[in-house]
Amino acid sequence: MGYFKKLTANMSFNVRREEFEHWEEPKIKKALHIEFATRNSSSVKAFLPIACILALFIMSVYSFGVHWELYDFQLDYAIVYLALFVISFVFYFVVRHQSKNIEINDKKILATVSILTAFYMGWVSCLLFVNRNLEASIIVYTATIVIITQGVYLAPRFSAWFVTLSTTLFLITNFARNGIKELDFEAAVGIIILSFVSFIVSYSRYCNRCRAVYNEILIVEQNKQLDEMVKELQEQKHILEKTNDELENAYVRDSMTGLYNRWYWNKIFEETLEECKKAENFTAVYMMDVDNFKNINDTKGHSMGDKCLIAIAEVLERETKNIDNCDVFRMGGEEFVVFCRDIDKPNAIKLADAILKNIQNITIMGLDTMLTMSVGVHIQKVQNRSDIEEFIVKADKAMYESKNTGKNKVTLSF
Ligand code: GH3
Ligand code: MG
Ligand code: MG
Repeated sequence: MGYFKKLTANMSFNVRREEFEHWEEPKIKKALHIEFATRNSSSVKAFLPIACILALFIMSVYSFGVHWELYDFQLDYAIVYLALFVISFVFYFVVRHQSKNIEINDKKILATVSILTAFYMGWVSCLLFVNRNLEASIIVYTATIVIITQGVYLAPRFSAWFVTLSTTLFLITNFARNGIKELDFEAAVGIIILSFVSFIVSYSRYCNRCRAVYNEILIVEQNKQLDEMVKELQEQKHILEKTNDELENAYVRDSMTGLYNRWYWNKIFEETLEECKKAENFTAVYMMDVDNFKNINDTKGHSMGDKCLIAIAEVLERETKNIDNCDVFRMGGEEFVVFCRDIDKPNAIKLADAILKNIQNITIMGLDTMLTMSVGVHIQKVQNRSDIEEFIVKADKAMYESKNTGKNKVTLSF
């Protein structure tokens, strides 16, 4: 029993009802038609020329056999085989022509192959009428059944009909010709068994093929769906990343000047100073406060004050743009900080002077006073925790010194 199960495991007797239903879905059905039309037309194109040559050869034997002293001249046989040759040849060209466009002619090809199969089955079933030799007829018949059921894919309901009808016809012609004898009975049983087995194998191959095509289509469709899902997810990811960037920007930046805000300064100041500990170079903090800013607000209005702050922010960004690890912060009001983590002393001083000079050079329509700032710079190497705490205190102190000693100047602290 186990052996039988193993033997039949790869055969598709156990096709489930819903599988048949799937194969009947229009899209799948079309794919199956194309699949079977493709396979059947190649089989027919490979097999029919051989059949033609064989028929022509047999015709020659019957026609010219008399000269080779094989047979008496048998015109009727020669004509029958010539007809077989011509008909096979016609089928060959019909299928060849149809298979040039399988996608459109799929059903036509299947119909032609079915007619061809019926024709050959009918032919070999009636062979005994033209051929008196029973053994030879049996050989031709069984060979034809095997070649057709295994060579082409026919829907089970067709092949069941073909095999049953042609076997019945063959047995009838057999009995009609020879009467019921023991030998014929054995031949009949053998042929019935062979026909049955041939049908079962062809049925199994057909179902396996259907299953394979169906699975292929499923996989392609699932892949397509997956691709679409991946695309959609990527789009969502992109949107999320963009929103995230925007949110982060809104969180860390000052909305008016676009500079980093005080919140971000508090967040990164200590972290980055810890990192500076490992670096060899100097760290510089620039504290800056616009001079007499209240005056501008009072005389020229708040919006002029805003314009000045934006212009100052632009100068600070421009001056620090080409310096590595250097950021600008607006601490609130008219106070700014520049924070450089990797700068040497001469360059740190150069930067302070450039800032001071370029702020003085700012021109804004309607502003008739010069913009100036008081700057305090503390520069040192960061070596321990107390250095970090000292930084702001010292930079602040330097800035207030600039304020208290005349404004519009830089005070350095080392
Ligand atoms: P000092 O030279 O001593 O620094 O004098 P000051 O006038 O700059 O001093 P103060 O700190 O008293 O003035 C800062 C003013 O900045 C007060 C406030 O109205 C103004 N201010 C703060 N934030 C803004 C802003 O976003 N826009 C404008 N237009 N003004 C602001
Ligand atoms: Mg101030
Ligand atoms: Mg001020």
